[in-house]
Amino acid sequence: MFAIDLQNIHKTYAGSTSPALNGVHLQIKEDCIFGLLGPNGAGKSTTISLMSGLIQADLGEVCIFNKNIKQHLFDIKYQIGIVPQEYALFPTLTCYENLRYFGNLYGLRGASLKQKIKDYLLLFGLEKNEDKLISSFSGGMKRRVNLIAGILHDPKLIILDEPTVGVDVQSRKMIIDFLKNYQREKKITILYTSHHLEEAQEFCDDIAIIDHGKILIEGQPKALIQQYQVKNLESLFINLTGYSVRE
Ligand code: ADP
Ligand code: MG
Repeated sequence: MFAIDLQNIHKTYAGSTSPALNGVHLQIKEDCIFGLLGPNGAGKSTTISLMSGLIQADLGEVCIFNKNIKQHLFDIKYQIGIVPQEYALFPTLTCYENLRYFGNLYGLRGASLKQKIKDYLLLFGLEKNEDKLISSFSGGMKRRVNLIAGILHDPKLIILDEPTVGVDVQSRKMIIDFLKNYQREKKITILYTSHHLEEAQEFCDDIAIIDHGKILIEGQPKALIQQYQVKNLESLFINLTGYSVRE
């Protein structure tokens, strides 16, 4: 069974002339860390929005754990944890209040939710900040809270959109190390997007490179580097996506 199975996905946003996704096929197996890599505007966030049911494809099928998202969105939503690119947090609530809100959304309540939040805050070095307003948090701190909000309900599939962009080295290391350990321990599936190739090469079991709404290449980082006789994933990425600077 695949955790994620995308078949021939086409998506053009209203008012746009060129497709954001142009025939995407992608199969991500269970129990692995998968990196969807591509430059700005490649279609990474659009792909993620489709998987979470936020937007619908013009054509093609999205299945999560063998269930078509069109018929099973409600069930699927409980099995996936989405960590969006933009901070999905309430700036005028405290850190704790934010996490309680997201826990409640997934039906978590009471003492067990409270304990879970406290454990995660401790794990992510935020225990002293639980009663501070999110608006006072740094980018790296917000990223960590955003991540906790997405995994409180123990999803089988975690989807993170550029979780390490715009954060300091320490936060980034904390996030990556946590995800690696969490994946190993719980045998869940992680899909993450990034344009940080060095990080992805080290972090991911499998990767795909996307550009202009098409998957260009897919495989294990080491195998791809060997196959294409490049020194690292970044060289391969540049070979495939070119030098032109994106918006
Ligand atoms: P990435 O996450 O890889 O940077 P996106 O999926 O956000 O790329 O965007 C893919 C393409 O779709 C880009 O050309 C972008 O400008 C366009 N796009 C993204 N969101 C919208 C939207 N809401 N309306 C119109 N065009 C959009
Ligand atoms: Mg994006």
